[in-house]
Amino acid sequence: MAEVVILGAGIGGVPMAYEMKEELRKEDNLTVISNNSYFQFTPSNPWAAVGWRSKKDITIDLAPVMKKKGIN
Ligand SMILES: Cc1cc2nc3c(=O)[nH]c(=O)nc-3n(C[C@H](O)[C@H](O)[C@H](O)COP(=O)(O)OP(=O)(O)OC[C@H]3O[C@@H](n4cnc5c(N)ncnc54)[C@H](O)[C@@H]3O)c2cc1C
Repeated sequence: MAEVVILGAGIGGVPMAYEMKEELRKEDNLTVISNNSYFQFTPSNPWAAVGWRSKKDITIDLAPVMKKKGIN
């Protein structure tokens, strides 16, 4: 059994988690650690700053998404 940990849940970490999950065996554990509970699409930050998007538009709550994919 392998314990795989990905640090950071940003543009690098989230796709890495999805792709890593595909590569692992059923008995392996995959955990993503981040200081935020959400994914934020960084390139859209300026749109939030000028009011063209709200924070809700550019963030995704990670817990339900990760749980659905079997990622801790
Ligand atoms: C305004 C803007 C526009 C951009 N436009 C583009 C574009 O059009 N195309 C493009 O390719 N790139 C673009 N980029 C660059 C792109 O956003 C970055 O290259 C990319 O976000 C880097 O990904 P990352 O996973 O390394 O870091 P991030 O996406 O920043 O993710 C880092 C993650 O680590 C977490 N973290 C940080 N510190 C800790 C800690 N101490 N403990 C736990 N977790 C931690 C953060 O919460 C975050 O989840 C843009 C950047 C900006 C600012």
